[in-house]
Parts: sequence; C-alpha cells; structure tokens
Amino acid sequence: MAEGKNNHKEKLEFIEEMTKNCDQVQEKVLREILTKNANTEYLNRYKMDGATDEATFKTRIPVVTYEDLRPEIQRIAEGDKSAILAADPISEFLTSSGTSAGERKLMPTIKEELDRRQLLYSLLMPVMNLYVPDLDKGKGLYFYFIKSETKTPGGLVARPVLTSYYKSEHFKNRPFDPYNVITSPNAAILCPDSFQSMYVQMLCGLIYRIEVLRVGAVFASGLLRAIKFLTQHWRDLAHDIETGTLNKSITDASIRESVQDILKPNPELANFISDECTSENWAGIVTRMWPNTRYLDVIVTGAMAQYIPTLEYYSGGLPMACTMYASSECYFGLNLKPMSKPDEVSYTIMPNMCYCEFIPLEKSYEEKVNGTDLVNLVNLEVGKEYELVITTYSGLCRYRVGDVLLVTSFHNAAPQFKFIRRKNVLLSIDSDKTDESELQKGVQRASELIKPYGAGIVEYTSRTDTSTIPGHYVIYWELLVKEGGKLPENEVFEKCCLEMEEELNSVYRQGRASDIIGPLEIRVLKSGAFEELMDYAISRGASINQYKAPRCVSFPPIIELLDSRVVSAHFSQARPKWSPQRKEKK
Ligand code: AMP
Repeated sequence: MAEGKNNHKEKLEFIEEMTKNCDQVQEKVLREILTKNANTEYLNRYKMDGATDEATFKTRIPVVTYEDLRPEIQRIAEGDKSAILAADPISEFLTSSGTSAGERKLMPTIKEELDRRQLLYSLLMPVMNLYVPDLDKGKGLYFYFIKSETKTPGGLVARPVLTSYYKSEHFKNRPFDPYNVITSPNAAILCPDSFQSMYVQMLCGLIYRIEVLRVGAVFASGLLRAIKFLTQHWRDLAHDIETGTLNKSITDASIRESVQDILKPNPELANFISDECTSENWAGIVTRMWPNTRYLDVIVTGAMAQYIPTLEYYSGGLPMACTMYASSECYFGLNLKPMSKPDEVSYTIMPNMCYCEFIPLEKSYEEKVNGTDLVNLVNLEVGKEYELVITTYSGLCRYRVGDVLLVTSFHNAAPQFKFIRRKNVLLSIDSDKTDESELQKGVQRASELIKPYGAGIVEYTSRTDTSTIPGHYVIYWELLVKEGGKLPENEVFEKCCLEMEEELNSVYRQGRASDIIGPLEIRVLKSGAFEELMDYAISRGASINQYKAPRCVSFPPIIELLDSRVVSAHFSQARPKWSPQRKEKK
C-alpha cells in the first residue's frame, strides 16, 4: 500500500514540474516532434529543412483543419506506408466522433501515443486522492464499452480511441493498483454485444454494492443509460443473484467464465434489490444501491451539462467529478480540482502531451487564420476565449481541434480552461455532434415528403430532449399548406422523422442503431409560432433587422413558448441505416 502512496507523490511532483516549466516543456515537445518528423513529406513540403525552432515553425507551417489533411489521410488509409505525416509507422486510425462528409474523422496514431495516454490516466487518482482519500479501500463501478471496428482499404484498424485503449495490453494487463480496482471483469468490458456487456457489468456492480466507492462512465449519458438498464432489468439481475446462476441470454463464453467465481446464491442481496426496485421510485437509486459511493465519475461539462439535473435526481445529489479533457487526436489534460462543481470545472492542459497554440476567438471566425496570430500556452490571458490548435507526436501539425476554451486561472505557469463549446455543434446526445448544415440537409430532405400535400416548412428549429433516456432530437416545424393542399397525416410525418435521420451523420446513426440515441421527433407548431419567438427575442433586446430564427434552442422560456404551440408530435418508427463500413460521400 505504501508503494501506491509513493507513486502518488511522484505523480503529483510530475504535475508540478510540468506546470511550473510549461514554456520549456512546450518548446521541448515541439523540438522533439519536429526532429523526429524532420523527414516527413508534410514538413518537407513546407520547407522546414530540419528546423526545430518555434519561430520557423510558426512562419512556415499552415494552420489546418481536417478537410485540409484529407488527401494525406486518404493515402494512409489506402495503404501508403511512406512517412507522410509522421516518421513512426501509423499503428491504427482513431475514429473521432467529429465527422467529415457524414463519416467519422480518421485520426492517424502511432504506438507510443498509448504510453502518453496511459501517463495521463495515471495522474488522475493521485489528484483525486487529495480530495477523496481512502479510495484504495474499495472498488469503482464503471460502465465501459467497446464499439465496432473496421479496416481501411490499406488494412489499418479504425476504431474509437477508448475501444483501442480497452483492447490494449496497457488496459487488459494493467498491474494491480489498489486505487484502480473496478468491479467489471475485462471480459464484460470487451464484449462487443452491448446488452451482455451492460448486464454483466451491472450484475457485478450489484454483487459488490457495499465495496463500491465511486460510480462512473465516460460521459453522463452513458451512466444514465446504465441506471435506466437497472430500472428495466432488476428482476432478472435479482433472480441471478438469488440463484447464483447467470441469465441464459448471456451467451458470451468468456463473460460467463468471468463471473463464475463471483456469482454465488445470495438471497439476502436479491431481496434487498427487489425491495428497493419494486416501488419503482428511482429518486436516489444510486445511493440506495451503492450506499458508500463518494462521487460520480462522469464528464458533465460541455454538451453533457444537459444531464446534470437527471443525474442529481438518480444519485440524490452526489458530487460529479469531471476528471479529464481528451480527444481522439490527443489526450490534453486533467482537472486538478476534481470535486469542483460542474460549472466551475477547469482543465489543466499538460504541456508534455502535445504542442498547443491558441487562436483568440475573434480571429477564429476568419476563414484563414494567419499562423503568426496564434498564442502560446503560457501567454494566454485569463478571461479570454480561444480555439485550441495542436501539433502532435502522431503527425498532426497546427491542427484545429474545434474546441473553444476559456482561460479561468493558472496553476503555476499552466493555464486552466473551462470547456465552453465545440465549434459548429448544434445538437448532441452522446458522442454525436450535429452541425447546422447537417440539420439543414436533413430538414430539406424530409420536406420533400410533405411537398405532394402542398405543404412546406416555413421555419424550423431544434433542441435535444433529455427528459427521455436515451435523449433524442426534437425538430420544431412551422408549416405552410398551400390552397388546395392538406396537412399530411401522422404516418407521413413519421416517415419525415426517419428521412431526417437517414441524412444525419454516421455517429448519429450508429447511436440510433445501438439505442444510445432515442427516435427523432418532429413537433409541428401552430402557424405564427416563429413570429411569436421573434417578438420574444426582440422584447429581450434582439435587433429587428438582424433577427434570424435560431436553429437550436436551449433557453427554457423559449422552449416553453414553442412547446405551448405544438399541434402534433411524431416519432421516427424505425432505425436509420448504419453499418460499421465507411461510406464516403462525395
Ligand atoms: P472525440 O474526438 O470523439 O474523442 O471527441 C473529443 C471531443 O469531446 C473534444 O474535442 C471535446 O469537444 C469533447 N470533450 C472531451 N473531453 C471533454 C470534457 N471533459 N468536457 C467537455 N467536452 C469534452
């Protein structure tokens, strides 16, 4: 045990060293990246000529988006093994939840990047232990899942970063660490069937209910799905615990084997579960099932903030810890005060993870950003918003991540950031990110189905509805029916819902295929509703001349206004098509 504590001390010292010497570490990181990748096609194209200094880098290398790198990424995906972006061989593609032309972005990565991710993970518990001690005296109940993977034409695996991590030796053969004991067996986490995976993870969580000290998932939406699962399947789970046998629907042999030694007849526990669940009163269910839970470990910043009230309801107000800030491109940093309230969470980017630059937000609206306008990590100003630009060991150079961050304070020389938003994202339930043009295309495609009725869409807006689990997209339509036309019937609107879903990106459709996102809903509004919305906005100070109907609404009084004008609501009756295979749209 003492060894664990020493290790914590070392990790905390490491954080101090990195954040105190932020500038030097960043310079070193850039030098290392440029030295290593000096002979890549990309750096040669921009005439770096082996230079490794910041000044040359900033004047010669352009600031880019994914679209700019598409040709290079396409070549790597097709099997070109030459050193295009990175000198090290590309080990796999990480499929970002950000999309390009409807498909997940492909982020090339190299083997050593796993070590860097592992390093960031290893900093989390030493920090948490400063605020919540004795977590080594129990277990964590975490709901972790893998997603499907594909191969690119050139034979590289393409999968989400967490799937890559859970399948890695780093995770599967992790050494015993008393602070990181989780209730879920590896076999359950690694099971591709999400029902079986969830069932067994929940079963083990219930068996160890007294030992569980923290309950979590990656995102808030995932934890809510797990709670919903408990509310739906507690009878089967209690039966298994009572009899010490595993439900027949769990057919995966390695999962069955993994619970063999854990699942023993325990009628007392089974009765307890039944007593707690029979009344169907779910308020505070997390603390009733897992009475020693000290906090929820889930990200509730950014798009996930919409789930805070529901999580509070189920958990009886347990604190929510947002521990890290990461992406497929690179893991960035951690929250040094993990027990802070969700709206006060700031992440500290660890300067050893990648080289970071920042576009002041006002500049970031310009199409082409001038490369010399970017600000270094240590020169940011408190109170200002910036867009993050990274240069990684995997070969991304001055790449715009798309995240907008606000500097709230400094820890030593390292700035701390509040996550403000992802650029151009209107709607998000889980990891899906739908932007304005995708929504527009969806609405346009669906509107074709009402044309034969002489009906058209005058105005539309949208929001996410998270009062259902899983949450779903709601699209508000105000219609105009031409003379001689008629309002389409319910079935037509239902088809419109599906038609919109078919047009949305693959992350959305995958979410629908796996019940991570609920069926899309169209709410038809009384005519004049959008005019009322405009009147309301103007009464609150909007300019009449510049008023545009918002394409997404979240302000409760506006939602209330729209909902009070709904004449009919319609849901998608089928799942949109999705397959793991990528379909590149032209
Ligand atoms: P992906 O590329 O699919 O891994 O998604 C990464 C993106 O998720 C980031 O660029 C952020 O927009 C978002 N994200 C990651 N961590 C957080 C966090 N702690 N809070 C809010 N948003 C986050």
